[in-house]
Amino acid sequence: MKFNTKTIHGGQKHDPAYGAVMPPIYQTSTYAQTTPGGHKGFEYSRTHNPTRKALEDSFASIENGKFGLAFGSGLAAIDAVIKLLKPGDEVVSTNDLYGGTYRLFTKIFEDFGIKFHFIGMENADKVEDYVNENTKLIWVETPTNPMMNIIDIKAIAAISKKHNLLLAVDNTFATPYLQRPLDLGADIVMHSATKYLGGHSDVVMGALIVKDEKLAERLYFIQNASGAVCGPQDSFLVLRGIKTLHIRMQRHCENGEAIAKYLKNHPKIEKVYWPGFEDHPNHEVAKAQMDGFGGMISFVTKGSDYDSAIKIVENLKFFTLAESLGGVESLAGHPASMTHASIPKEEREKTGVVDSLIRLSVGIEDINDLIADLEQAIG
Ligand SMILES: *Cc1c(COP(=O)(O)O)cnc(C)c1O
Repeated sequence: MKFNTKTIHGGQKHDPAYGAVMPPIYQTSTYAQTTPGGHKGFEYSRTHNPTRKALEDSFASIENGKFGLAFGSGLAAIDAVIKLLKPGDEVVSTNDLYGGTYRLFTKIFEDFGIKFHFIGMENADKVEDYVNENTKLIWVETPTNPMMNIIDIKAIAAISKKHNLLLAVDNTFATPYLQRPLDLGADIVMHSATKYLGGHSDVVMGALIVKDEKLAERLYFIQNASGAVCGPQDSFLVLRGIKTLHIRMQRHCENGEAIAKYLKNHPKIEKVYWPGFEDHPNHEVAKAQMDGFGGMISFVTKGSDYDSAIKIVENLKFFTLAESLGGVESLAGHPASMTHASIPKEEREKTGVVDSLIRLSVGIEDINDLIADLEQAIG
């Protein structure tokens, strides 16, 4: 099955009860048993729910995995991955990563005795310098948020295999439409399904996808034992979102490219971060591992500071000033005061998240309206 068919049919069966084409929203916490243990595969909805199962099978299909798991948020999915570890274990992580991931690692799991090394991974060889006998996991986010750095998943997977580590990739920005980390050697793919998979800014959800059965078993155990699952209504909405993922992503990419080029030629813009530019430091890697460059763009205007960046995002009309990304509507954000405010200023600025940086999630509206909006806001 090709990707554009998988988004619609991958892992899906018509409902056995009445042949419903869309999976019904099984809004139930429990399931009748004829005799203790005499059930139809479902006992309790923290453990399993038919609507969630349909979604989890879709996740597995679109990422070329075997097993999918849905969680109540992206962070709950990441939390489950770190619970594979024990005190004393070490993780090598991308330094330019989602602020909430950084917060979870440093403010929760460091207290449980897990050690994190945050490093720039644009040069994959550097990763090996941080691997020792306690290292268990490499955590990669690519493209990174918000600096759009690109990390070579295949090269990191080779290091991970050599040292018998797990490699997890946060694939939220790229989506499987553009990048399939399991095919490149990763062990775990993670998503904030809140973003492109859901695609309509109406659900908070997380996903994990793996190929290995033992790893899947352990993660299903953690999912059930820790209980950070999502409900059937949200499962239905994300499953519906995935059905149009391919056509939405196509337009996100087209609009993203047009806006990246518009900004690059704008006299008031200092720098545009978008992996599709030939002068992007890892453009060749992006070309090799991605099927397009997506709709996420960050930029800095010339001579701008905190206040002038705030003014631009406040003046935008079609780009709503909001946290999050990946929905059909365009959003603008100011990482330093919003998504990345939980990272200390000096840590942030080391990776380029300066006070004047603006991040766009380019939606699927008419491109002329979007460019006219940027034009009036940047002035
Ligand atoms: C939003 C996001 C997360 C966290 O997901 P939630 O669904 O908000 O918990 C993790 N990684 C990336 C790249 C994100 O954009």
